[in-house]
Amino acid sequence: MLNKKSIDDINVMGKRVLVRCDFNVPLIDGKITDENRLVAALPTIKKLIKDGGKVILCSHLGKPKNGPSPEFSLAPVAKRLTVLLGQEVKFAPDDSVVGENAKAAISAMKNGDVVLLENTRFRPEETKNGEAFSKDLASICDIFVNDAFGTAHRAHCSNVGVTKFVDTAVVGYLMEKEINFLGNAVNNPVRPFVAILGGSKVSSKISVINNLLDKVDTIIIGGGMSYTFRKALGGNIGKSLVEEDYLSYALEMMEKAKAKNVQFLIPIDEVTVKEFKNESPIKIVASGEMEADDIGVDIGPKTCELYTNALTDAKLVVWNGPMGVFEFPNFATGTIAVAKKLSEIDAITIIGGGDSASAVNNLGFGDKMTHISTGGGASLEFLEGKELPGVLAANDK
Ligand code: AMP
Repeated sequence: MLNKKSIDDINVMGKRVLVRCDFNVPLIDGKITDENRLVAALPTIKKLIKDGGKVILCSHLGKPKNGPSPEFSLAPVAKRLTVLLGQEVKFAPDDSVVGENAKAAISAMKNGDVVLLENTRFRPEETKNGEAFSKDLASICDIFVNDAFGTAHRAHCSNVGVTKFVDTAVVGYLMEKEINFLGNAVNNPVRPFVAILGGSKVSSKISVINNLLDKVDTIIIGGGMSYTFRKALGGNIGKSLVEEDYLSYALEMMEKAKAKNVQFLIPIDEVTVKEFKNESPIKIVASGEMEADDIGVDIGPKTCELYTNALTDAKLVVWNGPMGVFEFPNFATGTIAVAKKLSEIDAITIIGGGDSASAVNNLGFGDKMTHISTGGGASLEFLEGKELPGVLAANDK
C-alpha cells in the first residue's frame, strides 16, 4: 500500500487547500469531448468541500508553446466542474496563474468554496520546476494535495516544486487509488498474471517489458511493435513498422522470457494492406511471410484466437497499447477482440491509460474493466518499476 499521507490524514477545516488535479482533457472548439478525468477528480474535491476546506484547484491543459492563449484556457473546465459538483467553481483567469484575480478570489473564499486557477503551463517555469512559480503557488495555500496521477512521472512546479515550500503535502484519493491498483497488481500479483503490450514502438516499452518479465506468467505482444520481434526471428515484415536498432534487444527479451519460463506470445498472422488507409483491401498473411510491399496494420484471426485463449484463465491482466491501428475501424478487430475478452473473464483487469484506455472506452467496454488508469505515461513508468516524483514529493505516513 502507498506509504504517503493522504487527505484522510489531515484536517482542512478553514484552510486554503491547493489541489493539483489532472484536468488535461481533450477539447474541440472549447467543448470537452471526454470528461473522465474530471469525474475521476470529484471524490477528492467533494471530500475537501465536506471537510470545510477552501478548495483551490489547479492543473495543466495541453502544451501551450507560445505562452498564455485562449484555446488552452481552463475556463471550460470550470464551467463543466460547476455542473458536475453542483456548486460554483469560480474561475480565476490570470495569465500568470497566481495573479490579481486568483488572489482576490481566494481571499473572498468561505469554507467549502471552490476556485480554479488558470492553466499552470501558462507559466514557462512550470515544466522546468522553477522556484518562482513554485513559491507563488505555495504562497496561496496552507496545504497542498497532489491528485494528478497523469503527471506524477514529471517533476514540475505544480506537483513537485510547490511541496518544498509548504509544510503539508499529501496525496488525493485518485492518486492513492491509481498507485494502490498498479502497485498491488505488480508487486503482489494474483496468478496467472498476463501483460498485454501493444502500440507503435518497442523503444517506448523496453523497460516495461524488461521489468514485467520478472513478474508475469505471460506477455502478449501486439501492434506495430510486434514486427520488430518477428523480424528479429528472421521473418519478412514487408513495409511494416520496425525499429532496426531494437532487433537484438527483441531477441534478448525473448531469450529472457524463455529463461524465466514466461510465455512470450507474438502474432502468428497479420492483417495487411498495400496502402495505409482504412479503405485499402485487406489480406491475412502468416506472420513473417509478408510480401515486400505489405504493411501490417492489425493482428490476424488466428492471433486473435491465440491471444483470447491465453487470456481465458488469467486472474490479473495489465494492458497497455492497442493491437493494431485501431483508429481506423477496419484495423480495430484485434483491439476489439482483446477488449471484449477482458470484459468477459473473471480477472482483475487494469488498463494502463493512453490509447488503450480510449480504445476500451470508445468501444464501450469501459465499465467492464476493474481499473482504467487516468495516466498513460505515468502508469507506464510505474510499470517500469520507477518511482514517480509526484508521489515521492508527498509527506510520508
Ligand atoms: P503507443 O503510443 O506506442 O501506445 O502507440 C499507439 C499507436 O500505435 C496507435 O496510434 C496505433 O495506431 C499505433 N499502431 C498500432 N499498431 C500499429 C501498426 N501495426 N502499424 C502502425 N501503427 C500502429
